[in-house]
Amino acid sequence: MLTQDLKEAWFQFLDFVQDKCSATEFENWFAPIKVLEGTNGELTLQVPNIFVQQYLIDNYRKDLRSFLPERSDGSLSLRFSIADEPPPNPPALPQSSLPQTPSLNDGVKLNHAYTFPHFIEGPANQFVKSAALGVAMRPGKSYNPLFIHGGVGLGKTHLLHAIGHYVMEHHKKLKIQYISTEGFINDLVSSLRNKSSAKLKQFYRCLDVLLIDDIQFLQNRLNFEEEFCHTFEALIQQSKQVIVTSDKPPGQLKLSERMIARMEWGLVAHIDIPDFETRVAILQHKASLKGIRLPHKVAYFIAEHIFNNVRQLEGALNRLSAYCQLMGKEISDEVMASSLGEWVQTRPSKRISVEAILKSVATLFEVKESDLRSPKRTKKIAFPRQVAMYLAKELVSDSLMKIAQSFGGKTHSTLLHSWKKIAHQVEKDEKLKRQIEMARRDIEK
Ligand code: ADP
Ligand code: MG
Repeated sequence: MLTQDLKEAWFQFLDFVQDKCSATEFENWFAPIKVLEGTNGELTLQVPNIFVQQYLIDNYRKDLRSFLPERSDGSLSLRFSIADEPPPNPPALPQSSLPQTPSLNDGVKLNHAYTFPHFIEGPANQFVKSAALGVAMRPGKSYNPLFIHGGVGLGKTHLLHAIGHYVMEHHKKLKIQYISTEGFINDLVSSLRNKSSAKLKQFYRCLDVLLIDDIQFLQNRLNFEEEFCHTFEALIQQSKQVIVTSDKPPGQLKLSERMIARMEWGLVAHIDIPDFETRVAILQHKASLKGIRLPHKVAYFIAEHIFNNVRQLEGALNRLSAYCQLMGKEISDEVMASSLGEWVQTRPSKRISVEAILKSVATLFEVKESDLRSPKRTKKIAFPRQVAMYLAKELVSDSLMKIAQSFGGKTHSTLLHSWKKIAHQVEKDEKLKRQIEMARRDIEK
């Protein structure tokens, strides 16, 4: 076949597929293919990545045969070249004249400090860290998606970045993207404005690893939720790794059932509040990174008083070191008291409602507020309800009868019983003590 005929044959093939497939499919898979040359009876196509090539061959081999000639061995006279692939054996150039070749993941912005080695492990985050490392080592081949959820400042973003760093270092050919959910939405909005949404969709769908932070921001954004769901499905179906973080487990997100089901497809891992030892270890680690000498006693003091948010632990450390620098003093227990005083003070009391307690306890134990008020007696519900009752008796100044009624019409003896049970348990259960302290702070804030 002549060169012109070969190219013509390709365009005829494109006309044929355009009638056959959806506009989106065409935009995603065929529009980015360029004809490079048609010589020696062979057509060379430039594809943006190996997936486009694979897609074409897997899905259209038979049709291609009707349009393009075959080689003597029966294979198609078709060659592929991947766009931006470095030429084989590039000629050696003097260092200074080497052009800066953008690497695959140049645009990915990750915090250099958020790596696995800088993530301190403890019982509360061991499982989630192993899961994160697992997907980083074998993207798309273990849990997909990996859904990480937990409260603020507990290291979700840190782990997401750590996966990104690891993949970039160990799987150099994989294309990754880290984006906050808000960033994803903003991208979509501006691409719609510039009429370049097909390009954007194609960009996302060609990724090997997609790291999405704070998926809770997708709640109540119906149009974007649908687009995200398509992207998500497209990636998972091609065994591309997706990792999502959220402040709640999938079932508590106000998203469509379909979206929630997708999030639960793979592994859902919870990141909990680090225990005391881990908090001390984190403080020591952060201090050494900043070149600060932190006496044990001071680390213990901070870790004891700030327990539900690692970001705040770091904040206390920064504040302490800034104070010492300004005052020209070494970090010690005396300066600690004056610089951190207000962080650890209890706040003046205010009028507290049962509603506020229910809200806080529901979030803490990941249950629905309405369940706490319902007659349900499953352990998952009954225990948080008892905690809420305990807190209500401690913090609300109404009569016991009135408080009990706010729990869906319970009696005051139920309330007292719950209060006694939790008061007793809290004495010996460190975790429960922390949880209650956390709820109390949240309620009083
Ligand atoms: P989240 O995304 O869950 O709100 P981040 O990932 O932003 O929390 O973490 C807040 C800060 O706490 C970051 O500076 C992070 O490095 C630090 N951090 C959280 N958990 C750990 C940990 N286990 N080890 C070391 N640093 C941690
Ligand atoms: Mg975060």
